[in-house]
Amino acid sequence: MQPSGILRELLGRLPRDIVIDPEAPSYESLRRVWNDMIDRRPSAIIRPGDVKQVSEVVRLAATTGLPLAVRCGGHSFPGFSTCDGGIVLDLSRMNTVSVDPEARLANVGGGALLRDVDRATAKYGLVVPAGVVSHTGAGGLTLGGGMGWTSRRFGLTIDNLVSAEVVTANGEILEVSDSSHPDLFWGLRGGGGNFGIVTRFQFRVHTLGPISVGVWNYAPTRVAEALEGLSALAKRAPRSQTHTIGLTKSGLRVTAFYNGPDGLGHESVAPFGNLAGPGDGGLEDMDFLELQSRSDDFMRWGRRYYGKGGFFGDLNPGVIREMADLSSNAPNEDSEFFMIHLGGAVSDVSDDATAYTGRQAEFFWLAQAIWDDALEDEQCLSWGREAGQRLEARSQVGNYVNEQSDVGQRVSELAYGKTKYNRLAALKAKYDPSNLFRLNQNIAPAHGVSEPNRDQAT
Ligand SMILES: Cc1cc2nc3c(=O)[nH]c(=O)nc-3n(C[C@H](O)[C@H](O)[C@H](O)COP(=O)(O)OP(=O)(O)OC[C@H]3O[C@@H](n4cnc5c(N)ncnc54)[C@H](O)[C@@H]3O)c2cc1C
Repeated sequence: MQPSGILRELLGRLPRDIVIDPEAPSYESLRRVWNDMIDRRPSAIIRPGDVKQVSEVVRLAATTGLPLAVRCGGHSFPGFSTCDGGIVLDLSRMNTVSVDPEARLANVGGGALLRDVDRATAKYGLVVPAGVVSHTGAGGLTLGGGMGWTSRRFGLTIDNLVSAEVVTANGEILEVSDSSHPDLFWGLRGGGGNFGIVTRFQFRVHTLGPISVGVWNYAPTRVAEALEGLSALAKRAPRSQTHTIGLTKSGLRVTAFYNGPDGLGHESVAPFGNLAGPGDGGLEDMDFLELQSRSDDFMRWGRRYYGKGGFFGDLNPGVIREMADLSSNAPNEDSEFFMIHLGGAVSDVSDDATAYTGRQAEFFWLAQAIWDDALEDEQCLSWGREAGQRLEARSQVGNYVNEQSDVGQRVSELAYGKTKYNRLAALKAKYDPSNLFRLNQNIAPAHGVSEPNRDQAT
């Protein structure tokens, strides 16, 4: 879609080299996002290089009334970081990461990917607790919460956020922390992109001790027994250890990850190789950066995805039966249940302390349909939706906004619960009363200005 006259005029005020219009050679590749189900054509993609330019773009975008999509890594399941006929503010040029090992702090640009963060911190043997796929954007991941291998030990990504530089809906640039705009700092930590554009995150970093990684596969006939074994062992695991599963119709893959200075890793992860008789696999010799990119290709750009997640209070026999049954009916070999073990440091923080909701969960689960051929859309979407609904019925109240293909007011309200949603809505009315930042799991401003993301659902 070509920019209209008024938009053209406004874009003319920006440096030419940061504006990509539909005639630019790079437009076709830059308009794409990770999930190939999403195929939208913005009128312009703007790629600012610094916070002042971000502020200018926000001010201009607000005057057009057009949809404004904010993009870091482009990994939003429902495609929040693009739109039809509006403006995409692509932060990917602002991906610098600097680490101060003495102060144990990392400054991360709002457009950085996890691999940018991990590579910069790994040089010093340090880590920012974050996710498990290296091409995920640090921006979106952090603002929703951020969970990964080291969360049980060091907390969610937001629990390690010290401060943020934020461009608000009126273009103002704020330094936000516990002592500066603390209400906004609360909302940023789990409220998604609702409250502003973060151009710089400052994180606390931690020493990443030696890691131990064990990976084992269990055949479909042993899935239920293996999950029961995992449930029992996971309850007793130290917080330096976490576990993920990938459950497909071909069977169960369990990964046990240990990170600690005491050299007990191998011993601690080994029992996960014998959950239902011996699994097929063993300890893997890999460093943290290799682990972080292990799933990059499987979860690559350009595939078709539907995801729905939730929290389990525990992995009880009913849940296990449901997952085993659903996975045996998956539409293909790649569609899976992913699950990550939480608790530990994540649960040390009270649910009221940040906008993120679901701190007492033992596991986060994600039902994800994954396929490549558009002809299979109906079959794969139908399995993903059914799997999601059936597991939702067995899940805790509260949810993680970052891993949901479904959108709409109901999704946000269920994710936060009524009381917290109302608090977020009041904050939204204060910082973004006209709902400029509405392409996200949207929180409608308390006075009810606009219908959230109605026209951008998958
Ligand atoms: C392959 C894959 C692996 C994943 N693994 C994990 C995982 O291990 N742990 C986990 O917790 N989550 C994980 N997720 C979920 C992930 O956190 C969300 O998809 C998240 O939205 C991705 O952020 P992004 O910057 O790549 O997305 P984008 O599509 O660029 O943005 C998503 C949303 O965040 C907002 N946003 C992004 N950056 C900024 C910013 N700087 N300022 C303001 N708003 C911003 C956007 O407006 C948009 O609403 C994974 C997702 C995928 C697709």
